[in-house]
Amino acid sequence: MEVLEYGFMQRALLASLMVGLAAPAVGIFLVQRRLSLLGDGLGHMAVTGVAVGVLTATAPVASALVAAVLGAVLIELVRARGRTSGDVALAVLFYGGIAGGVVLLSLAPRGQSTNLDAYLFGAITTTSPQDVAAFAVITVVVIGVMWLLGQRLYAVSDDEEYARAVGLPVLALNIVLAALVAATVVLSMRVVGLLLISALMIVPSAIAQLVARSFRQAVLLACGVGLLVSLSGTTASYYTGTPSGGTIVLLAIGLFLVVTAGVSLRDALRHRRHRRRTRIHAAHPHEHGSGCGHAGVPHDDHVDYDHDGHLHAPHTTRGGVHYDEHGDRQVTASPTGRRAP
Ligand SMILES: [Zn+2]
Ligand SMILES: [Zn+2]
Ligand SMILES: [Zn+2]
Ligand SMILES: [Zn+2]
Repeated sequence: MEVLEYGFMQRALLASLMVGLAAPAVGIFLVQRRLSLLGDGLGHMAVTGVAVGVLTATAPVASALVAAVLGAVLIELVRARGRTSGDVALAVLFYGGIAGGVVLLSLAPRGQSTNLDAYLFGAITTTSPQDVAAFAVITVVVIGVMWLLGQRLYAVSDDEEYARAVGLPVLALNIVLAALVAATVVLSMRVVGLLLISALMIVPSAIAQLVARSFRQAVLLACGVGLLVSLSGTTASYYTGTPSGGTIVLLAIGLFLVVTAGVSLRDALRHRRHRRRTRIHAAHPHEHGSGCGHAGVPHDDHVDYDHDGHLHAPHTTRGGVHYDEHGDRQVTASPTGRRAP
């Protein structure tokens, strides 16, 4: 493939592979915790870090990492004190981060290229070999910590009160999660950009939660979606000359819309099939169960009862319990009802 012939594209694809894996992996915990915008807030903090790096002519990856992790620790401490609500603390991060970055960058000597856009929205061609090395270290740390602490992070994200009651160190785990988010934000600088990374944390998780049946499955699916959109978005941006970050995020959102439409269509079809296949009696005076005198016939995941020559099963919907006729299975399922061939 032509796209693989260039060194900068190899580095870009490597970086997008790492972002695509790490961002949804931490993002799904943020969605669980209803803190979807934390990544965005830390992205804004990282802007100040980038400005410090530009001013001092040091590596912006390192200074951005320091700023984002400091912001992460700060917000968790503020949230834990409980005097300021989470969204106010986030708002302070957003505006403080951007304001700090803009003011600091204005102090940079004239003529020094700042090219803030490349950090805000991603620019694949700027990924240096040193960046790839730093990103690899960050990715290994993020995935390794997720692997080790995933269960505990899930418990805290799912129900903080319960986690506290069973003696988990809630504040410490929240800070760890926020620090992982901060590291992932910095990881994204070259490929997705600081202002768009939150989308790559949240949207693949949202897609996964539409179809997954368990949290574990959702994590795997979200990472799969993240890899898919970040690799194909980076490749597409090479051919179309568009910024990688925006291209990746648009792909992810497009996929989200397609999956949402697919899931609602599936549900509608299921509902229609259900209504067509079943005649519903709302009121049923008799409660079927083992030993009620009617023959039970296993059917998919439930038992149908042969009640006066027709098969039906209790079925719960939002409207309450009703009995569905499953008579279309009767001929083959009920030994007594079988006709001669
Ligand atoms: Zn019965
Ligand atoms: Zn049935
Ligand atoms: Zn019955
Ligand atoms: Zn039903």
